[in-house]
Amino acid sequence: MKADLPVREPQRLDQWRQLRLYDAIRRQRANARLFVLHDGPPYANGDIHIGHALNKTLKDIIVKYRTMRGYDAPYVPGWDCHGLPIEYQLLKELGVEKHQVDRVKFRQQARAFAKKFVDVQSAQFQQLGIFGEWERPYLTMMPEYEAAIVETFFRLRSAGYIYRGKKPVYWCARCETALAEAEVEYQDREDRSIYVLFPVVSLPGDQAALPASVLVWTTTPWTLPANRALCFHPESKYAVVEATVQGTARRLIMAESRVVAISTLLGDASPRIVAHVSGAALAQGQFQPPFGATPVPGVTDQSVNLDEGTGVIHIAPGHGHEDYLIGQRHGLETFSPVDHQGKFTTEVPPFAGQSIFAANPKIITDLKGRGLLLKEAPIIHSYPHCWRCDQPVIFRATEQWFLSVEHEGLRQRLLRETERVQWVPSYGANRIRGMIETRPDWCLSRQRYWGTPIPVLYCVQCGTALEDARVDEAILAQVRREGSDWWFVGGASPSLWEHLDPRPKCEQCSHSEFRIGEDILDVWFDSGVSHEAVLQRHDNWWPADLYLEGSDQHRGWFQASLIPAVALRDRAPYRGVLTHGFVVDGDGKKMSKSAGNVISPQQVITKHGADVLRLWVAGCDYSEDVRLSEEILRRSIEAYRKIRNSCRFILGNLHGFDPARGAVPVERMQLLDRWALDRLARLIDGVTEAYETYEFHRVFRALYDFCNEDLSAYYLDALKDRLYTNATDGEARRSAQTVLRRALEAMAQMMAPILPFTAEEVWQHLGGAESVHLAGWPAAGEGRLSSEEAASWDEVLAVRSVVLKAIEEERMAKRIGDPLEAEVVLVTDDARARELLVTFRQPLEELCVVSRLRVAEPSTASGGAASRTATGEGATRLADRVSVAVTKAPGEKCPRCWRWATDIGEVSAHQALCRRCATVVMSRE
Ligand SMILES: [Zn+2]
Ligand SMILES: [Zn+2]
Ligand SMILES: [Zn+2]
Repeated sequence: MKADLPVREPQRLDQWRQLRLYDAIRRQRANARLFVLHDGPPYANGDIHIGHALNKTLKDIIVKYRTMRGYDAPYVPGWDCHGLPIEYQLLKELGVEKHQVDRVKFRQQARAFAKKFVDVQSAQFQQLGIFGEWERPYLTMMPEYEAAIVETFFRLRSAGYIYRGKKPVYWCARCETALAEAEVEYQDREDRSIYVLFPVVSLPGDQAALPASVLVWTTTPWTLPANRALCFHPESKYAVVEATVQGTARRLIMAESRVVAISTLLGDASPRIVAHVSGAALAQGQFQPPFGATPVPGVTDQSVNLDEGTGVIHIAPGHGHEDYLIGQRHGLETFSPVDHQGKFTTEVPPFAGQSIFAANPKIITDLKGRGLLLKEAPIIHSYPHCWRCDQPVIFRATEQWFLSVEHEGLRQRLLRETERVQWVPSYGANRIRGMIETRPDWCLSRQRYWGTPIPVLYCVQCGTALEDARVDEAILAQVRREGSDWWFVGGASPSLWEHLDPRPKCEQCSHSEFRIGEDILDVWFDSGVSHEAVLQRHDNWWPADLYLEGSDQHRGWFQASLIPAVALRDRAPYRGVLTHGFVVDGDGKKMSKSAGNVISPQQVITKHGADVLRLWVAGCDYSEDVRLSEEILRRSIEAYRKIRNSCRFILGNLHGFDPARGAVPVERMQLLDRWALDRLARLIDGVTEAYETYEFHRVFRALYDFCNEDLSAYYLDALKDRLYTNATDGEARRSAQTVLRRALEAMAQMMAPILPFTAEEVWQHLGGAESVHLAGWPAAGEGRLSSEEAASWDEVLAVRSVVLKAIEEERMAKRIGDPLEAEVVLVTDDARARELLVTFRQPLEELCVVSRLRVAEPSTASGGAASRTATGEGATRLADRVSVAVTKAPGEKCPRCWRWATDIGEVSAHQALCRRCATVVMSRE
């Protein structure tokens, strides 16, 4: 019986579809307690990859487990349909640039593109055996979803969280758009690091230090034209240093702690400090920047780092977040003379029209020519790059819409909420807290085509944004009806407002004609409001019990969801957040086409089956990065086979067993079966606890060990005689079958969340009702041994080990062949030990698989060939107080049961058989 999963699984999926299994499950759980795992939407822009499979399978294991525990656990899969990934891919496919397309038509193409991949991915996820509302998923491009986005924006805006401002944001010059924090990736990049002079124009107080220049270190020469100040540490000492640089004597100002390092770097190992000046005093000075005629002021800030550079920072408020904040504190202009394509504007005449990266070397040459450059050197540093086009991004100040994290103390409220959430693994709490503590306001505007428009109208005369709740209402109704494409066709149509009384007017100039805003919303805002669009549509689904995504989502979706929820509802949208690592190859390297180490889920499913892939997911420790290779997959297949073979073996021995008629009550079961029942009860407890704490590798381990140890190594082997040679209807045989049936049923139930296909197959073979996925959870605790009984069993199993060792020695000495040729005699002079051995004689004989096992008085013991005796006085283990004698069993081998017996031929009708076998055979005649 081959597993043949690649053939069986699709058939099973058809069967489940015909059953409408997911709906049946939900109906059955209609009034049960809810458990809501809210799906984070993947991008609909390609086949699913192994990371998706890991993510969705983990979710499915939890949903299926909760369902079997009796919860109503809905699962509504979602897709992120808007955004740059799709826009970028589609432009590439069409072979055009952003400016060459008609926006409305392009959006229709993007919609079709997304829809296509939603269908592709949906089919692929379903192949994995994932249950959910596949016919009613949520798509962020659906009109009702877009309406939820727009509505949330309006609510945030009227609550005062949304503002328009000019601030530096990450900007991709290639994609021509602002980017969110979560949309940049840090990569190493080589730049030029330079030391530039800012001559002192004036410095109050000590004039003896002059003339001198402040030495500034920067790795972004292109930001020098936007310099608006020099920043010093307020409590630090600065030195005026005389040093000879390239043959010229210079007077340089730098932090005293940096004098030695910097002078050496500049080529003068013995600089002379001629004066000291405090950071606070320098902040009173004026300095000549390399570009522009106006001197710039000094300022101070605690954040100035005295361990690198010269301890002086050149401040360009238009090109950096920190610089911007310092600029705001000191009333500096947010100057940003770089356009949307990353080129200098006419505000920087010498380099106007040139890309900043191309202008970098020219700026350096120019500084050199004017004697302002003391040193340049290559530097490799970690620099932000665009997640889509891989180009280095810049900080650029533009007019954008922002969500304030300071309004109404939002940042503190966010931090407070993270404390209430259960983070698994727990370090997630620190990670997201650290990010929230330092995050800037959320830049919501994107200058792209494919997304939800920012639903704001502007006065055609003065450009002021209109804020009128009645207009918002009208816009929202239209989006709900027609979707957001409507905005670009009819968003500025007077029919929206002309019937309103009084008519909306510009609050600045009273004009009453408006145009639409062209920007779209950050796609993270789309997915961030999924709890509004999906959870709020159902009674009691908000907040979700669990969000479950990759660990990079602390920066992405977890934060994007938390912010609007806490702003509007003062509560996190989730009670728990579980994160997993990324899938890497067998050596821990990232999977990539170029490295040739990619393993796709489709590949695994068609070759080995979804259950094999799911078993790999369950078996891995997802709290870290997860490895996958052909070798690791082979181990998964091997483990799968072990589990499957155990199930198969049990099924084979349950043939013809009807539990309704044949089950033996616990109190009448054989001792060995009581032991097995206890092992099963412990398994159920262990597995349940591991599921509860999301430790699926422990579930896997426990199931695997149960099959491999308890069943294969002990129980099933011991049962062979009873199952194969006892009377079919005999109580001893039925006692074993009762336990086997219970064990297999429970295993199918406990496996179902991880191995839904195989569990179902087993369940159907057991004649279970409809589907294992409609079954409940196995009852725990039933059949547990008392602690005294369990202790006795520990002693018995220790004796078994000693016996097996003795038999093995006899076999090695070639005195016996098969263990069934052996007779074992146990001797002890300890009364308590003997009593125990007598009680457990039968199960011990079965467990040792010998023809006969006897317990003898010390005097009557026949001196066996091998004799194992007590290891010493006062030995505490019973096994150490028993001597074991192994001899060749007397009599002959019965051809039916293979045991050696002295009563062969006693029953005349069956001359060849032992008495026991003869009786069994006759009872069937
Ligand atoms: Zn880009
Ligand atoms: Zn106006
Ligand atoms: Zn026999």
